Amino acid sequence: MNVRKVFKIIGKILFFIIIIAILVIAYLIYSKYNFNEYVKAEYNRGLSEFERDSKVKYSETNSYKIHSEQYNDAMFYKEIPVSPNTAYRVTCMVKTENVENEEDNADSGAHICLNKTMEKSVDVTGTTDWTKLEFVFNSKDKTKVEVGFRLGGYAGNSKGTAWFSDFKIESGSADTSNTWNFLCLLFDNVNVNIPYDNGERNVKLHLSQEDKEDMKTCIERFKTSLSELSKGKINAKYEVKEITEEITTMSHDKDNGYYVSPTDVKETLDKYIDAGKYDHIFIAFRTGDINTQNEIPVNDWIGLGGMQYRGIGFSNIRLPNESNNYIYKYDTRINTFPEEVYIHEFLHTLERNSEEYGYEVPELHSYSYYGYQDQKLVGLKDWYKDYLNCEIRSSSGNIGLNEEIFTKKPAKASDFNLSIELNDLKEPANIFEEIGILFKKLIKMFSNESSPNIENQNELVESEIGA
Ligand SMILES: [Zn+2]
Repeated sequence: MNVRKVFKIIGKILFFIIIIAILVIAYLIYSKYNFNEYVKAEYNRGLSEFERDSKVKYSETNSYKIHSEQYNDAMFYKEIPVSPNTAYRVTCMVKTENVENEEDNADSGAHICLNKTMEKSVDVTGTTDWTKLEFVFNSKDKTKVEVGFRLGGYAGNSKGTAWFSDFKIESGSADTSNTWNFLCLLFDNVNVNIPYDNGERNVKLHLSQEDKEDMKTCIERFKTSLSELSKGKINAKYEVKEITEEITTMSHDKDNGYYVSPTDVKETLDKYIDAGKYDHIFIAFRTGDINTQNEIPVNDWIGLGGMQYRGIGFSNIRLPNESNNYIYKYDTRINTFPEEVYIHEFLHTLERNSEEYGYEVPELHSYSYYGYQDQKLVGLKDWYKDYLNCEIRSSSGNIGLNEEIFTKKPAKASDFNLSIELNDLKEPANIFEEIGILFKKLIKMFSNESSPNIENQNELVESEIGA
């Protein structure tokens, strides 16, 4: 063998070693940034890092890491097919390091969500070891949803690091009875600081024994009225709980003034929602007291509805500032429909659900357009009755709530007693599946535009009833 030949062989070997090294490096880089079929999205583009982590991981598979050095809303999501009106549960493991929200008390942090909706799981913030996150939702009228794993949220930005792993989706069977389980929380104490002049003012308010008795009477009457007015199409069960923990923050907007958003009382709500049995939540509290001259400014609302928390309808019931007000008191000469605010606010939830399920529904506040009036003693009782029974006369026939909406309730833990695991969030099982996904992504890349931005979600949908 001559020297030239030896060099040639060595050259060939070196060439192969270099090629293999390049392939190995390319694979390592690829696997560090490969999010399989998930789409990465940010509100402020380029501010967050998305990586697969081989060191901090929960199981065999490398975890999915989002790191935001500055405040941002970042997530990775995947579109999955769903059957309409079906309960789904998504779970994953999550670990966080120094996760902080830009605004105090925001419904943000590391969580699972449905992209382009306000539906989400609870948040994980701070520094935590691996914990299980669970998120249930009803697909409503949709045939596909985008399930997202997120650091931030529609309600505010977050920073820090979150690792996600072990994604799983199951379908359950929704409870389709027409009996709704209501939770009524009586918040005994309000203790909030509100801006005043250039500083702050502390306002403390309490429910009296009389207030609490009025609320208990109203919710009992609400239960009876709901069945009667709807001619048995929808029924109510309820539990009243007295809450001694204070309401310490309130939300504010231009239309309503101050009000209690779900996030203001989320610690209390989470405790009850975790039990997985409620379909709607009322909270009752005071915003003023004429005796102590204490008052939090509200824009003339007595009830506030149309809000939701973890997919469950949420309404504010405000006690009036004076105790001689008859809005929640039954009196044959003054008010024979004291449960009206409860009926009204719950109807806002059915109104909202109808829109989300794709049913036509007249606006709850459009009563005068259809010739109804706020009457002495009974308020808008006739309107609610016709609204519930789809008996409002209009030029295009009778309108109102579609009867089917009474059986469409929020997804909850009991829907998953016999759940079926779906494959949609499974990790690729082998290299061939991974290559398959890579090809799919390449095809998408050539046929599609660039990575999407998270659109900022609107604030809560609210509406009010006149006092
Ligand atoms: Zn209203």
